[in-house]
Amino acid sequence: MKAVIFDLDNTLIDWKDEFIFALENVLKDLKLNFSKEKIEEINNAIDESENHYEKLTKEDFLDFVNRMCKVDLPKEFVDKLIEAQKECSYQDKEVTETLKYLSEKYKIYLITNWFTETQEGRLKRAGLLKYFTKVYGADINYYKPNLKAFEVILKMYDAKDCVYVGDSLKKDILPALNVGMNAIWKTTEESDSYQTIKTIKELKNIL
Ligand SMILES: [Mg+2]
Repeated sequence: MKAVIFDLDNTLIDWKDEFIFALENVLKDLKLNFSKEKIEEINNAIDESENHYEKLTKEDFLDFVNRMCKVDLPKEFVDKLIEAQKECSYQDKEVTETLKYLSEKYKIYLITNWFTETQEGRLKRAGLLKYFTKVYGADINYYKPNLKAFEVILKMYDAKDCVYVGDSLKKDILPALNVGMNAIWKTTEESDSYQTIKTIKELKNIL
């Protein structure tokens, strides 16, 4: 094994309530007074947008959210959201120790379906960015599960020398296996078909 590739959300950092607070703050900052329901609708549209495009662009993303929610959010909404979400991360000693251990043996990469800048900001804040050789967001790469999203890694390594670690069977594990990588599924489910872990620290026993 030469390279370990991670997903970020719900794999290394939990997707927590801070995101909706960040969204609320951005909307407040833009003096947009939406109801709780509308804010939730916008939050859901943000999650859903990745299923409709090959790559992430600020323009498509904003257009999708505006159309889905019948709102007229301005361009600066996206920039403000990217900034606000950089604060959404937390320190987890076990994750830090595991990444430190892995980075001494392998190259570590991130493939994520969100803005590179936001994800780097969150990793930095969590003290984890220094362990990564490179972070590939969907704005500079492709959205998973498109197999093209994994090709950036295959330009550097043989698939068999790579292991992908993620929480989504559909977006992480199946496409990684499809391109010939090894894959470890972070899940609370039991599986006979896939290699699984319940916590990130278990990687120290496997890799
Ligand atoms: Mg995830």
